[in-house]
Amino acid sequence: MTSQRILVLGTGGTIAGAGSERTGSAYRPGGLALGSLVAHLAELGLDAELIAQEIARIGSQDIGFAEWQALHAACTAAMADPAVGGIVITHGTDTAEETGLLLDLTLPTIKPVVLVGAMRPADAVGTDGMRNFANAVKVARDGQAAGRGVMLVMGDAVLAARDARKAATTSIDAFRSYPRGPLARVTPSSLDWFGPPHRIGESARYPFPAELPRVAILTAGAGMDEQPVEALLGIGARGIVLAGMGQGNAPASVIAALARAAASGVPVVRASRVDEGMVDRDVEVGDAALGLIAARALGPAKARVLLMVLIASGITDPVRVQAAFDAG
Ligand code: GLU
Repeated sequence: MTSQRILVLGTGGTIAGAGSERTGSAYRPGGLALGSLVAHLAELGLDAELIAQEIARIGSQDIGFAEWQALHAACTAAMADPAVGGIVITHGTDTAEETGLLLDLTLPTIKPVVLVGAMRPADAVGTDGMRNFANAVKVARDGQAAGRGVMLVMGDAVLAARDARKAATTSIDAFRSYPRGPLARVTPSSLDWFGPPHRIGESARYPFPAELPRVAILTAGAGMDEQPVEALLGIGARGIVLAGMGQGNAPASVIAALARAAASGVPVVRASRVDEGMVDRDVEVGDAALGLIAARALGPAKARVLLMVLIASGITDPVRVQAAFDAG
């Protein structure tokens, strides 16, 4: 069992959402103070001392470099503090997969870091927030939780941040895990891991970026031409992620323009606009010949995060970028 002291970092989102019509849908994400979530959890009698620290109170569509930097700094301090056993981050669900992957890439695995959100505001009928929060605390204080990278707890499941993906806009069961399934099932009274920790004692894989390079996502559509690629280069894109059709496809003129971008030193990653599945190298598109990179299991949003971190670390060569996408 790890230390029972858990640092709770609040950023906002629906889990801290209030002002709803209880059965309606209008509300303010992040309207509720973190302290009130923590106080409610204390009433559930979970054996943990929660230390609340508010980073932001926003909908996660507005999260960006400043909040990520503050989260990373707070996690780094907590990793070095022997009194803290684990970290819970309350977060909006819209971009939880992006924050989760960014922290997963830039933090060591020595203490559990658990993102948690909710699909229904705290004062709505049938809210899922307090249960998800209780589940997250249960995971963060568990002796088997470290050494698995950053995790996301939603809907009684524990997902690896790298695999987690929001796949439904409003359903309580909104998250999927691909290509690996959940790491564990959790309820406020039970926690069943499906395997041992697989990343014990890892250092951070990449330094936290000093700034985020401009990396754009370009969604492919039937009948489009190559002008959007030229436009992205025109605004100084340092990297491009294609949210392509099927296995990362786009019309021939778009692929040709992306190959020209790659030849000019702008790394281009082919992901898919399809919800699930691998984008592999050299299937329908000749990545090796064109200097392109296949996103493998990462969807466009997470591919963008990884590409930003790589570019910020000075890694732009397609062979090295591909190796990072292959690393899994
Ligand atoms: N769009 C808001 C956010 O991501 C609310 C959605 C949610 O948390 O589920 O913070």
